[in-house]
Amino acid sequence: MEEKNILIVEDHELTRFGLKTTFESESFVKNVFEAENAQKAIDIVTNNKIDLIIMDLGLPNIDGIEATKKIRNKNKDVKIIILTSHNDEKEVLDSLKAGANSYCSKEIKPARLVEVVLSVLDGASWFDPKIADVVLKAATNTNDIGENIKKDYNLTTREVQILKLMTEGFGNSEIAKELVISVNTTKAHVANILQKLEVDDRLQAAIKALKNKIV
Ligand code: CA
Repeated sequence: MEEKNILIVEDHELTRFGLKTTFESESFVKNVFEAENAQKAIDIVTNNKIDLIIMDLGLPNIDGIEATKKIRNKNKDVKIIILTSHNDEKEVLDSLKAGANSYCSKEIKPARLVEVVLSVLDGASWFDPKIADVVLKAATNTNDIGENIKKDYNLTTREVQILKLMTEGFGNSEIAKELVISVNTTKAHVANILQKLEVDDRLQAAIKALKNKIV
């Protein structure tokens, strides 16, 4: 994998330092950028090629959800992982709607967070199992994402198989390994799945799949 630039957005100095130290020692990381507030984060993303952001929610002035929205409007490619001590249902859903790729509890162990970062860089929409429950509960209770009708969307057996792995948080290379197919084939299947489900990203696909009981 090409070396990646990571940005840590966190106002708590000790937490920020801990995260920076964790990622600086990883061989896949090129540079670790730091921002103690949202405006600084937006400036860094504007002026540098950032591959992934670890975003705190409770920030002064502009909060993490607003910051995620602003960054996502300018940059569709950067991966955003929300790292927070709350797992309030509304906050989780607002973060995902704002364009975050993943949502993760601050209780996570550093080594596990590194795995999550790698999996998100690989295209997965990983989220904390504790939070996954919140998302799924909300997805089955509200009409925010997708319709509530059971449909099969004309998916092939292979596509359903891949979709199931996507709902379990598998990235492209993990899916490829699991099904013994190439990463390019996997990517092509995922693109077809997103198109058939009429969604923009893997997380919405996973929610729609679970909601419509496709997997
Ligand atoms: Ca904070």
